[in-house]
Formats: sequence, structure tokens, C-alpha cells
Amino acid sequence: MQIFILTLFPEMFEGPFKCGLFQKATDSGVVKVDIRNIRDYTHNKHHTTDDSPYGGGAGMVMKPEPIFEAVETIKAEIPPKEKVPVILLTPQGRVLSQETAAELSQFYYMIFICGQYEGIDERVREYLVTDEISIGDYVLSGGELAAMVVINTVVRLLPGFLGSPASLLSESHTDGLLEYPQYTRPPKFRDWEVPEILLSGNHAQIAQWRQEQSIIRTKTRRPDMIKKGKLLH
Ligand code: SAM
Repeated sequence: MQIFILTLFPEMFEGPFKCGLFQKATDSGVVKVDIRNIRDYTHNKHHTTDDSPYGGGAGMVMKPEPIFEAVETIKAEIPPKEKVPVILLTPQGRVLSQETAAELSQFYYMIFICGQYEGIDERVREYLVTDEISIGDYVLSGGELAAMVVINTVVRLLPGFLGSPASLLSESHTDGLLEYPQYTRPPKFRDWEVPEILLSGNHAQIAQWRQEQSIIRTKTRRPDMIKKGKLLH
């Protein structure tokens, strides 16, 4: 997968993409991340990327020209037959879910546009963007953190990202349930013991216990998931 990110703050991505499993995935070629500074696509003397809003009001709005030019430059570098979603991070977009991540993981190329300030000139949304994603009903100061969240959920679904891909199958939100409780050594920590069933070696019973725990957890913590009919079991 090849991901392009358009941002005014490329340095924000240095931490999250340069450690742990993500670093491994870039080293092994599972994913390539290409971060482009929107400012590099300006042609005015001061490399201005924003201006005051027409009609008045607080804050600044990101100008359309450098964003169009950046996306068009990237697209010209990609084989023309490829389908390339151009994704705007915005609190007005469809809210990110595990299904959205699975859907996006099917693409090979993706372009993310990170807004700042009051947001982006509407013509970008109308004539350039093909998808709009929000990471939740709250407002961040910029799209960079949102892009990191979306990209992380998508990339961890790619073959070769996780050491044991089987762990994806039982994860929260994958099959309409939250995951069962997990334990590791020691079997007794302070006065708290690991449930006996998990030490029994009886895999059928363990699977049944986990399934029950998943259902109990979902019912108590996220009854909305059950109401939405997400419970598949
Ligand atoms: N004025 C905009 C509005 O009310 O819809 C909010 C602009 S916000 C301060 C600046 C940028 O942060 C946005 O352009 C977007 O890229 C990003 N952003 C803020 N909240 C977000 C969210 N919940 N999900 C995704 N991106 C978000």
C-alpha cells in the first residue's frame, strides 16, 4: 500500500510512523508513506497556504490552489488505471469505524488531506475529494492526528503487518462484539487470579468462555452495538 499525506506539518508524523510495528511495516515494504508539505506546492513569494474567509468571520481558510496542485502531481505519478481515493479529514465526514478501515485497506494507493485553521476552501471538498472521514464528533485543531488514526487502523489490517494475523479475527469491533478479557503470566498477581478455565488447556471450553465474555462485555459496555444489530452470534 502506498499512502500520500498532504499536510502543513510533516514533522508531526515522525514519531508515530517511526516506531514499533509501523516502522517494521515500512522497512519490509508492507506500506510506504509519502508525506508532502502543502507549502511546497505554492508559487507566491511568501508560500502562503491560507487566507481570510470570504464573508468575514474568525480564523483562516486553507487555499485551494496548492492542494489541487499537490493531488494532481501525485496522481500523475501513479499508474492512470489505479483507483485513488482522495480523503479529506474533517469533523463533517463519515465517522471512522472498523468497517471503514476494512474498506480502505482494499486500495493500493490513498491520498489524505489534513486541514488546519478553520478548514479548507469548499472547492477542494466539492471537486477534488472523493471521501470525507471524521474520527469522532469532536473538533481537533488539525487533520494530522486524525490521519494517523485512520492510517493506523487501515495499515494494521494489511497482510504482513501483524506478527499473528489471527489476532485480528477476535478483536473488538471485528465481528460486532468487544473482545474477551486477556490475561498473561503470572497466574496470581497480588490476590488476583487468572480465571481457572484459561489454565485448563481445554481449548473448546476456553473458546466458549471467551465467546460468553465477549457477549457479556458488549451488552454491559456497548448496548448500542447490540441495539444496532451488530451482534452476529
Ligand atoms: N471549522 C471546521 C468545522 O467546524 O467543521 C473545523 C476545522 S478544524 C479546527 C481544522 C482541521 O482539523 C479540519 O480541517 C480537519 O482536517 C481536522 N479535524 C478536526 N476535527 C476532526 C475530526 N473529528 N476528524 C477528522 N479531522 C478533524
